[in-house]
Amino acid sequence: MNFTRLRLAGFKTFVDPVDAPIEPGLTGIVGPNGCGKSNLVEALRWVMGESSFKSLRASGMEDVIFAGSSSRPARNHAEVSLTLDNASGRAPAPYEAAAEIEVSRKISRGLGSAYRINGREVRARDVQLLFADASSGARSPSMVGQGRVGEIINARPDQRRRILEEAAGIAGLHQRRREAEQRLEGAEQNLARVEDVLGQLA
Ligand code: ATP
Repeated sequence: MNFTRLRLAGFKTFVDPVDAPIEPGLTGIVGPNGCGKSNLVEALRWVMGESSFKSLRASGMEDVIFAGSSSRPARNHAEVSLTLDNASGRAPAPYEAAAEIEVSRKISRGLGSAYRINGREVRARDVQLLFADASSGARSPSMVGQGRVGEIINARPDQRRRILEEAAGIAGLHQRRREAEQRLEGAEQNLARVEDVLGQLA
């Protein structure tokens, strides 16, 4: 799945709506210091479910909302949408039949973040799972930030294993396994309660 479009509004320096097509091949971002090149990459990580505001150079998640300037008032919302091309049909269920997948995240002051996939409200973990299955995501090795190469070279074997699992597209399985274990634990507790009640009735 390729990224084909990134749209932003009210995110950090991008106060006005920006609709950026991402063409096949290499995309370069150029501009003077402080114009928002890194903010654009952070927007990409944010919409993929980044939960750490520190890794977005912010002191709280609401800091990603345009804070105002000498000529523009601050905004109360920030929204980023990322479109993925699914012509290959390789998107995980239930999106395998969709030609395109649009993932969006919106944050409003005092209300936190809300995520949507193709217009339907979803949980943060659904978005994270979608990208994990596609060997991508806010923390994935497909996002190579400054110092990341050295970090991988110096990583411990278990950290390297995680990187290889992400590259192989099986990182999402760990999350699914954790969720399945939690559901199983809940079912076992319910069963024990049913047995208690049956024991009292007998
Ligand atoms: P460089 O080339 O120096 O690395 P850059 O083009 O990557 O710069 P960024 O680091 O993306 O620039 O942007 C930094 C700018 O973003 C700073 O001027 C900072 O004030 C501004 N900025 C960060 N958060 C917000 C916000 N919430 N509202 C408005 N501006 C913001």
